[in-house]
Amino acid sequence: MASILIVDDELVICKSCKKILERSNHNIDYVLTGQEALKNIKEKEYEIVITDLKMPGIDGMKLLDIVKETFKEVDVIMITGYASIDTAVEAMKLGAFDYIPKPFTPDELRSVTSRALERRRLLKEEREKASRTYVRFEYVMPGDLYYLPEHAWVKLEEDGNVTAGVDDVFQKSVGGIIDVQLPKVGDEVEQGKLCTEMKDSSGRTHKLWSPISGEVIEINHKLTESPSIVNKDPYGAGWVMQVVPSRLDYDLKNLIYGDALVKWWLKREIIEKRDDRYLQVSALDPKFKYEIAKQRGGENIKVCFGCGICTASCPVREIDENYNPRKIIRMALLGMRDVVLKSDFIWLCSTCYTCVERCPQGVRFTEVINAIKNIAVEEGYIHPALRMQAELLEKEGRLYEIGDFDNKKREKLGLPEIHSEKSVIGEIFKISGLKEILEKEAADGV
Ligand code: SF4
Ligand code: SF4
Repeated sequence: MASILIVDDELVICKSCKKILERSNHNIDYVLTGQEALKNIKEKEYEIVITDLKMPGIDGMKLLDIVKETFKEVDVIMITGYASIDTAVEAMKLGAFDYIPKPFTPDELRSVTSRALERRRLLKEEREKASRTYVRFEYVMPGDLYYLPEHAWVKLEEDGNVTAGVDDVFQKSVGGIIDVQLPKVGDEVEQGKLCTEMKDSSGRTHKLWSPISGEVIEINHKLTESPSIVNKDPYGAGWVMQVVPSRLDYDLKNLIYGDALVKWWLKREIIEKRDDRYLQVSALDPKFKYEIAKQRGGENIKVCFGCGICTASCPVREIDENYNPRKIIRMALLGMRDVVLKSDFIWLCSTCYTCVERCPQGVRFTEVINAIKNIAVEEGYIHPALRMQAELLEKEGRLYEIGDFDNKKREKLGLPEIHSEKSVIGEIFKISGLKEILEKEAADGV
């Protein structure tokens, strides 16, 4: 049971939507204007707002904009006349879950609402998996495709034609697909209009809006025999149709791709509560691995294939689970520059070289970690233990103080006396730049 708000300036539409959805046991309110809708949304928690696109005052697009900005958890479904399909497609790009063209049947309204609720259920389930700590997106969206978000994808083929299919969000929100009604070869499809229908196991029919306009030249017949291919492989074997596009440039502007896709996805799914569990792509530095590779010893970092032999053979790892050479390399390759450089774990390596001996790829991890430490120091991230060692070296000329007692013992053993090497060490500190870094750190009060 969900709380749903209907917004339409036609009272008859509001009343009929209420009647249809109440049969599915949902709590339905309706209002006739965007202003009233905003007041209601502020006062009551709705899961879904179903709004007409064209209304006097605050129209559907404006309402969508405000809801997505202020009440991010609310899903918005647009009701639109066929004349406004372009705007409805644009609304999906701006975050609407889907749209229903007027006139619609009770089943169409129920289907799109059930998909929105199923998607919400899946997201809630994912968010509640508290054990997850690393990068994992709820949905797969390959980066080389164009999307009518939460609905369909388009792939540009080398011959100038395009392949289209349903995206992961659509197939997951539909659930098990048991029947697919494909367009026919020779049909003209139009972006934003119906191209395919898919039936789920409860008998509901879900409409797929074509992400592209043009003539259908091939359809995936396998879907008729085995519709579940769409669930198993939506971007591969589950493709829907091939089209000769008729207005490609225009249609692509309504789809999202590349950076826009990443931004859209981050905004849509990751901003709420879980950002600590995700990699923020915008915070990654893809050049970090090249920076390490330029350092002496860091050259081979890019050939690491993540087998974990270094971690398995590391004696430090055996006593401290937080230390994980394989993970450090993955983080560096992903571009988590700040996290790696500021971390304590890069300073834990005991320089035993066991990992270097065992790495099947010839990655000299001990030297990679030295390269990372060098970059960290240059950036001013110096572990307190290293600073203490440097201070001791500068003061004593060595890490262990040698006093009269030690020299007397040495004398008895016939060993030469040891003198402080302060001046030599001081010179090394100056030439290496460490002196300058330590002084800057002290001046900055670090
Ligand atoms: S053993 Fe080598 S290839 Fe395997 S994870 Fe470690 S560094 Fe990478
Ligand atoms: S060199 Fe460092 S990372 Fe490699 S096995 Fe030894 S302690 Fe572990």
